[in-house]
Amino acid sequence: MKLTSVSDHIWRLQTWLVFPITVWLVADEDGVTLVDAGLPTMARGIRKAVDAIGAGPLQRIVLTHGHSDHVGAIPRLMKEVPNVPVFAHRLEIPYAEGELPYPGRKKAVTFLAKGLAQPLAEEADGRLARIGQLQPYLTPGHAPGHVVYYHEQDRVMLAGDLFNAKRGQLRFPLFTFDKAQALQSRRIVQELTPVHLEACHGGPVARPTEQMDAYWQANARFAADGGRVSI
Ligand SMILES: [Zn+2]
Ligand SMILES: [Zn+2]
Repeated sequence: MKLTSVSDHIWRLQTWLVFPITVWLVADEDGVTLVDAGLPTMARGIRKAVDAIGAGPLQRIVLTHGHSDHVGAIPRLMKEVPNVPVFAHRLEIPYAEGELPYPGRKKAVTFLAKGLAQPLAEEADGRLARIGQLQPYLTPGHAPGHVVYYHEQDRVMLAGDLFNAKRGQLRFPLFTFDKAQALQSRRIVQELTPVHLEACHGGPVARPTEQMDAYWQANARFAADGGRVSI
């Protein structure tokens, strides 16, 4: 497992299982926010990484979505720090808890113990409330309640599985049932213009906005209209 500094407040912890699997640690005023929880085997590495960055204790876990490779270390972490709250989008929780099958899957599977995750808070206008220094945005498609987390001060987007990445290039996310919706959700990059993007399965992507035209062209066939209407 490799711990790498991403920006002033963010670290990437990455392991490899067929493809890279990444979680992020964010130094907040009150301690550390963990974004995604990887595989069960990453629990020890996450605890060590929290100590290593010296930003205080683990305060909360926030999830981009509930797939098994994003929540795996939670049970082991909870044994040591049982009161750490876990947050996900309210639309994602029934799928992660195995109440509903993920779109395209026949069976519902429990990835998260029931009642463990609480919904990300929402403002009166329906937008997601900031959590620590991160602003979440709903970006459905790969999963029904997928969110990305944007660190405004560092201008870094922690994009979960909104994209995959390879050698600094954005790729369409694997295992995505609603491809048209996932393609539509890419617009958050053009809206926020991060200077740096992190994908869970892949390395860092610098200036992702510059890739968005090429990304559209490579994946326009997934658009609801088959890509006939440009960007
Ligand atoms: Zn996923
Ligand atoms: Zn994933």
